[in-house]
Amino acid sequence: MRKPLIAGNWKLHKTIPEALDLIEALKKDLADKTDIEIVVAPVFTALVPVAQAVKSSNIALAAQNCYCENSGAFTGEVSPALLKDAGCSHVIVGHSERRQLFGENDELINRKLKAVLAEDLIPIFCIGETLEEREKDEMMDVLKRQVTVGLNGLSETEMFKVVVAYEPVWAIGTGKVASTDQAQEAHAFVRGLLAGLFSTPVAEQVRILYGGSVKPDNVDGLMAQTDIDGTLVGGASLKAADFIRIARFE
Ligand code: PGA
Repeated sequence: MRKPLIAGNWKLHKTIPEALDLIEALKKDLADKTDIEIVVAPVFTALVPVAQAVKSSNIALAAQNCYCENSGAFTGEVSPALLKDAGCSHVIVGHSERRQLFGENDELINRKLKAVLAEDLIPIFCIGETLEEREKDEMMDVLKRQVTVGLNGLSETEMFKVVVAYEPVWAIGTGKVASTDQAQEAHAFVRGLLAGLFSTPVAEQVRILYGGSVKPDNVDGLMAQTDIDGTLVGGASLKAADFIRIARFE
């Protein structure tokens, strides 16, 4: 019922020529994959050339971040409207690196989500606990706060467009993937939160991606879990062969 979504977060990597090389490889080897959605998130400077390269392919384009206003005196920021103009259909919002390194809090992330939805773009809304929070047994409280404040005020219609990504911070870029049980437990918990905050149809339809050290050798186990609807892939999305194998999960 929920179409799997496999997204590559390229973070701060790849020049325009490197980005185009990777896209050509993905286009060639994933052209037949119409049973899933494929999304790539290059750096801002590569968005326009990559948008041209993915035109009329099955690969969609995401930005890694945006601001919550569409224009004005906001030096250094990029708006949802301009991302749409550049060819994006998706925007990653609230990635843990934005939260940890750039001080983004739940309220700002909520404003960004609303701005993204107002432009009819699809937000990939990231949540996840740190190692310290997990060890203190605070995982559920943290996820509850992130989901409740982050999605505050969204309508049910808007919620049907939202993609959630559960990314335990301790698993990002560390090689320490969450076990399939740990991931499934968190995903089921988040789906329960969505049912309580919105409705059963919202909870049943919203896709929840797992992110954090997803690799070719662990993707199949993760994707076999009932509540895991896709993956948000960092490091392994930079290599064509790895990302292709992840998108061809079994
Ligand atoms: P990783 O990153 O796959 O390199 O752990 C995931 C992410 O940050 O989205």
